[in-house]
Amino acid sequence: MSEFISDSNFNELVVDTTLDNRNDEGPMTLENFTKLMVQFYELGWMRGSGGAMGCISGKELMISPSALQKERIREQDVFVYNISEKTEVQRPPNKRITVSSCSVLFSLIMKETGSECVIHTHSKSANLITQLIKTDSFEISHQEYIKGIYDPFSGKALKYSDTLSIPIIDNMPSESQLLEPIRGVLDNHPQAIAVLVRNHGLFVWGPTWESTKIMTECIDYLLELSIDMLKNNIALVNEGAFEKEDNLSEKLRTLMFSDMAPV
Ligand code: ZN
Repeated sequence: MSEFISDSNFNELVVDTTLDNRNDEGPMTLENFTKLMVQFYELGWMRGSGGAMGCISGKELMISPSALQKERIREQDVFVYNISEKTEVQRPPNKRITVSSCSVLFSLIMKETGSECVIHTHSKSANLITQLIKTDSFEISHQEYIKGIYDPFSGKALKYSDTLSIPIIDNMPSESQLLEPIRGVLDNHPQAIAVLVRNHGLFVWGPTWESTKIMTECIDYLLELSIDMLKNNIALVNEGAFEKEDNLSEKLRTLMFSDMAPV
């Protein structure tokens, strides 16, 4: 694989100065990055050295290395690039270690969506749900954790009764070959904040590393839940409940405000 600094999407990536105050807990640090790798490994998202994360921190882009055991990564093992100068700031001391093969996917997603962080997991639920659902998208509605998902169109969180839709693409022999299918998802589904790869895993992107981590947790929960719902013949998208909920809230409003004089 050629050096990442020659990747066309990385070269077109610009530092977004509006990012300054986006982070709740401050910009990503190498210490935090390696701690998150341990957490993600423990969640079953990055076993067998799989999975990856890319994160913009100020003028720098941090990307996990390929093939290394994710829960044992040290700060010096993270690849760091300067976005403004298009240079490599840091690479692992072992020269044989290469940057994640997801790096070109991350730079495409970041450039096209303005996302600051992309998390790629190999969770069992993400894999299994793509085998249970034969269509090209996963959809679920009326779930509390849908409220943890950011809507890039409104800039707000989705509502409980909204339908979360995640496109599903087919797997390819190598991760970098997912570039064109992911480009297709970004072109055809501009509202998407994630994509499922059949028999493989999940990619999630968001405006900050915090929101991306939270969304990945919420989506992974929803995928795991969906597998159990399907086993129990429960529909994932509940159209009927929407009407009921609307009627109910209307009734409650009538009950609560019936004594009030019209303003
Ligand atoms: Zn993967």
